[in-house]
Amino acid sequence: MDIRDLKKAVVEANKELPKHNLVKYSWGNVGAIDRERGVIVIKPVGMPYDELTVENISVTDLEGIVLEGPYNPSVDLPIHVVLFKAFPQIQAIVHTHSTYATMWAQAGRDIPCYGTTHADYYYRSIPCTRQMSDEEIHGNFEVETGNVIVERFKGIDPMAVPGVLVASHGAFTWGTDVWDAVHKSVVLEEIAKMALGTTLLNPQVKEVPMSLMERHFSRKHGPGAYFENDDYGRGIVNRR
Ligand SMILES: [Zn+2]
Repeated sequence: MDIRDLKKAVVEANKELPKHNLVKYSWGNVGAIDRERGVIVIKPVGMPYDELTVENISVTDLEGIVLEGPYNPSVDLPIHVVLFKAFPQIQAIVHTHSTYATMWAQAGRDIPCYGTTHADYYYRSIPCTRQMSDEEIHGNFEVETGNVIVERFKGIDPMAVPGVLVASHGAFTWGTDVWDAVHKSVVLEEIAKMALGTTLLNPQVKEVPMSLMERHFSRKHGPGAYFENDDYGRGIVNRR
């Protein structure tokens, strides 16, 4: 993809966040990687979404050194860098403090799979990281935030579980392009909302049976997938 097209996609994807009510003010960001060119395109820090353009979006190298753009990149850039390096299959990352997902993050709880909406997109629970230590918080905070996510994904396929809750903080999702990553954030917020209501209505509720979870997930993922249509409604998603 042409770098200008990637910049355009990142600008538009960032603007999707307030549209879907996933962010207030300038909280949250979308970043994408061009692995061939070795660059990351990400929202500048503190920039209101409606002022984002291809001219002011930030472009950095894979160490976070600014290559293009008049402003500093998002302070969360080091988290994106850690995740892009640890998860080579992902091409885009979304970070939000969307309300319901953040409630689970603040409670320090994984979101159990209570239904097929969840099972369609996330295989089993959506994990929450451990609390960071004082040393990590006082150290290279953003890098360490990335590291606790990677630590939580030991033994978990990031493509089967395309998102995480960072304890006491918020949500990160990722995908094969910016639209995929935004889509996963919208879905995560809905799942978090449904799961909260589900536990309120039935505090003893259990996860759905493995058979139902497996069936729903495998309709859309893996070699037996038969859901050919995506439901992004747009984008540059590689179809199977
Ligand atoms: Zn944050």
